[in-house]
Amino acid sequence: MGLVDPQSLALGPSLWYRTPARMTKFARRMDRVEMSGIRRIFDLARQMTDAVDLSLGQPDFDVPGPIKRAMIEAIERGYNRYTVTQGMPELIEGLRRHLQRDSGFKDGGILVTAGTAGGLFQALAVLVEDGDEVVVPDPYFALYYHLVNFFGGKPVLLDTYPDFRIRPEKLEALLTPRTRVIVFNNPVNPTGVAYRPDEVAAICDVAKRHEVLLLSDEIYSAFSYDFPHESVLKHDGNALLVGGFSKTFAVTGWRLGFAAGPRDIIEKMAVLQQFSFVCANAPGQRAAITALDVDVSAYVDAYRKKRDFVVAALKDRFDFVRPQGAFYVFPKCPWGDDEAFVRKAIENKLLIVPGRATSKRTSHFRLSFAVSDRQLERAVEILNKLADQNRA
Ligand code: PMP
Repeated sequence: MGLVDPQSLALGPSLWYRTPARMTKFARRMDRVEMSGIRRIFDLARQMTDAVDLSLGQPDFDVPGPIKRAMIEAIERGYNRYTVTQGMPELIEGLRRHLQRDSGFKDGGILVTAGTAGGLFQALAVLVEDGDEVVVPDPYFALYYHLVNFFGGKPVLLDTYPDFRIRPEKLEALLTPRTRVIVFNNPVNPTGVAYRPDEVAAICDVAKRHEVLLLSDEIYSAFSYDFPHESVLKHDGNALLVGGFSKTFAVTGWRLGFAAGPRDIIEKMAVLQQFSFVCANAPGQRAAITALDVDVSAYVDAYRKKRDFVVAALKDRFDFVRPQGAFYVFPKCPWGDDEAFVRKAIENKLLIVPGRATSKRTSHFRLSFAVSDRQLERAVEILNKLADQNRA
């Protein structure tokens, strides 16, 4: 254990009084990062018994058997040491084949990362410096906003309310000579929007005309319910793709992701990986080679059914966009602001995420439907009751 027991943080500042100020003077970049609002809800959940938890974005299904066995076997067969920084060559080749087949990837570089979050961290670290502008569609996955700030950049928010789709002309209007990166997420956390080929092409067209790098987070690519996922790589040979294994194979704790794109960017990210994460989880990389060929369509079909169930169950009392991908719904609060509504939900043993954790607006909330059918039934019952309470 380090100098500070994390448990003591929960007990308040009294335990800190002897810590010399010199030791708790933090780098100024930390002033620009706040604790994730989603984590805060998660911490609350741990103290509650019998709550329905729709707050965290991770699949409820178990890791598919062949992937589990590949992981166990990898550990037993000695894949427990550092791998090369870039990732195991067989995994990189497997990723290349899959990206060429499914995403129109041509001849860029590939880096195996410590989760998609690791890939995003490295991409933004090597690309963004003081004063650089980074376009981030709002609502957003919170990490984009905080990391851009952390690296000294300025998040320029592209408001996508009320239908949560990016309009190319609105995107174009935000670009300036200081724009360094456009962040794109498809399918979107938290709204469930998924983009069709013509929309992806139009967004790529703006990036290409302005010679701005598109950083596309496609971690939910497997969870596209109404049409096949369309990658930016099909339309923009200079885009940088990040993705991962966490959601598709229910291995969020394994920390496995990848980045694919222009070789010079990937090489810079690998340099930073050498001095930060070193490499991605080694036995996990072995298991990931197996995972690439595991068919998850039955899981996706089950999630489509969950999507249909939530949509049907909430549509009369809530205002929301029908999700086409990922596993979230982002409804407008039927009354009050997000904090008031979420507080009431928590009092009723339902954990959801206030919109402000993932947007500049405070009118919506996020729920994850990646939970058991029983939990989902309980959740919609509570939500509908809360909506009716206000009507009464
Ligand atoms: N991107 C998005 C849009 C996400 O929702 C998440 C996880 N919630 C991540 C990246 C991070 O995923 P990973 O576990 O691969 O780091």
